[in-house]
Amino acid sequence: MDRRSFLLLTAASVTTPPTEFLRSFAAGEDSRLLHGRRDSTSGPQAKASSDSSPWYRVMRRCGQINYNERDPLTMNAEAWGDYWASLRVDAVLLNGGGIVAFYPTQVSFHRRSQFLGTRDLFGEMVAAMKKRGIRAVARMDCNLAYEDALKAHPEWFERNADGSPRPHGESPWLFATCMFSSYFSEHMPAIYREINQHYPVDGFFTNGWPSTGAPRVCYCENCLHLFESLGGVPPAETDASNPLYRKYYQAHLDRVLEVWHLWDGVARERNPESVYVGNLGGGLDTVKDLKEISQAAAWFNADHQGRSGETPIWDCAQQGRVAQSVMQGRTITNVAGAYSNATPNWRHVSKAPAELTLWLAQSTASGMVPWFHWLGGSPEDNRWRAVGRSFFDWLANNETHFRNRSSIADLAVLYPQRTVAFYSRPESRRPRYRGGSVDYLQGLYYALLEGRFLFDFVHEGNLDATSLQKYRALLVPNAAYLSDGQCEAIRRYVNGGGSLLATFETSRHTEWGDPRPDFQLADVFGAHAAGEVIGPRGNSYARMEARHPVLEGFHDTALLPGAENRVPVRADSVPLILSIVPAYPAFPPEMVYPHEPKTTEHAAVFREMGKSRIAYFPGDVDRTCWRSGNTDMSQLLQNAVHWVRGSDPAVSISGSGIIEVFAWETEPGYALHLLNYTNPNMTHGAIRQTYPLGPQQVRFRVSRGRLIKSVRALRSVASLRFQQKAEAVSFEVPGIKDYEVIALT
Ligand SMILES: [Zn+2]
Repeated sequence: MDRRSFLLLTAASVTTPPTEFLRSFAAGEDSRLLHGRRDSTSGPQAKASSDSSPWYRVMRRCGQINYNERDPLTMNAEAWGDYWASLRVDAVLLNGGGIVAFYPTQVSFHRRSQFLGTRDLFGEMVAAMKKRGIRAVARMDCNLAYEDALKAHPEWFERNADGSPRPHGESPWLFATCMFSSYFSEHMPAIYREINQHYPVDGFFTNGWPSTGAPRVCYCENCLHLFESLGGVPPAETDASNPLYRKYYQAHLDRVLEVWHLWDGVARERNPESVYVGNLGGGLDTVKDLKEISQAAAWFNADHQGRSGETPIWDCAQQGRVAQSVMQGRTITNVAGAYSNATPNWRHVSKAPAELTLWLAQSTASGMVPWFHWLGGSPEDNRWRAVGRSFFDWLANNETHFRNRSSIADLAVLYPQRTVAFYSRPESRRPRYRGGSVDYLQGLYYALLEGRFLFDFVHEGNLDATSLQKYRALLVPNAAYLSDGQCEAIRRYVNGGGSLLATFETSRHTEWGDPRPDFQLADVFGAHAAGEVIGPRGNSYARMEARHPVLEGFHDTALLPGAENRVPVRADSVPLILSIVPAYPAFPPEMVYPHEPKTTEHAAVFREMGKSRIAYFPGDVDRTCWRSGNTDMSQLLQNAVHWVRGSDPAVSISGSGIIEVFAWETEPGYALHLLNYTNPNMTHGAIRQTYPLGPQQVRFRVSRGRLIKSVRALRSVASLRFQQKAEAVSFEVPGIKDYEVIALT
């Protein structure tokens, strides 16, 4: 098909009446569509246009076929159109170009796929989506280009310190481009404009850029000029203690925002409803400032496709929480790799269905839009197709219950961006981490799952009173690096009646890691730093000195396990509840006794100020809990969270199993999402099968005056009996397979 006939087809397809619309599936790959449950009255675009929000704000399902240079030889655009229509997606990501063009480009150094021939694969794919009422987003790559461009435009490329270009590790005929160069500010916009001119795309997405990882240091001419203006060459590795690194970190972020705004503007030149979306992600572990990036991003795409090694299954839900902490209800998508991404990685075979489904479920539960992703236009493995279709079909049938208004969680967990990015203690400098550590957050998180708490992440840049007022308590897992302003916001929250749980070095350093003589929040903690961190040392303890609600449930013991690291503190005005028993030898057994049997040093400080309750742990109990798997430590954290939050939570769920809970106020009412992680493959993938949970007793608090008429389980398709007394709605969920959503309307 030439471009002219394709444009005519596209123009015609916009007005295709519903009957023809359905008939167009008949030749497709999936006969199930003939009995399809697709809403025949309107395609997704029609739905979006009836809403004043831009189309991506109301998108609920998204797909991506990531085709390769050779695919123009064999790829069937119509069959792919049928597949994506069978998933009832709102939008599909389609490869336009960047490294190689999948259409007959005229832009210099934008190399056409060597297999393109006379085809316009991108144009065919856009047309195939459009005629099925699906939005088309051009998926681009701005990160690599060929040697001919390197020779003609040496200024476009990243350089090592010796001036050499940076070839790609696996495809060394491609070279890394520099984001400070005109490749980003002129060449990529020229390509976007060409695509915008010829194809009715609804947006642009760039693979791999900007990412949330550590800023890479380049030594090209442009970057050397930048370093001159900053006063010198920054260190190659993340080092927030270095003044040049600090300047470079901000300059890098400024350029990311400049390019993002530029590309978003170019995307909207022909269609104000169009959008540019960059590639973010990183889960808990981010370096670039998400709060700043979120201010440029109309749409946050989390490229968090799967897990490997010892990564826990809840890694995807955590990604959702991190993204929500900055997007605060605006569009977030998460890429779910349908291929087997693990270590090692297989791009062309399917992921285990149970693992993939739980990944899609976590994306949905945490309020992200699932984006289903396959690589290669002519797959030899097709098992993934049914997994996506089954989940997306269910999503589409229940779409209204996934239109979230706001989370109803009553606990906030601080997402400590700077600490995650820059803080490290010697024992946490492992290759997995890019200079920081997420073990503190991970330990608290696991305790919150065990305690079945309902919580949100709040980014440290969003600690204003409006953001915090809905929460009864703020939980702070070692936010060692906090600015004066952030500390003041926490102080105001506590003075206004909010409760606080904090651990270890929280507020001990400025946002760049400069040490303070004492905790900036010492007055709030009721504790002062009395020395440098002691540890890591095992075999230390906390001794129970007095009764306290946080110690409930610990019988027949005076000792609890101690944290591996601690800040020695003075807390003279607070009663001693838990005292430190300093570390002593664990070997040989003859030497295993406390060499300092009794101290008055606090292992925890519990205090009340007006309506506020404060629990401060000078030890890294959260990190130690995660690293050791110790059950007492998790219980201690859970008890402390219970105590700071108080009774009558927004939602309580009793029953057996490890579950993660999200609860949203939705357009029709409320939705309670229950994810079942109870599985031998919870912390080492992949999930092979589901181990269903038995009955769960739920008490769900609705807004005052709200009368609930129906409680339904959407996955198991059942109406549940319930009772409502004032705001409390009580019901039993008979069981949870992998994932259940309870709709209260
Ligand atoms: Zn450069």
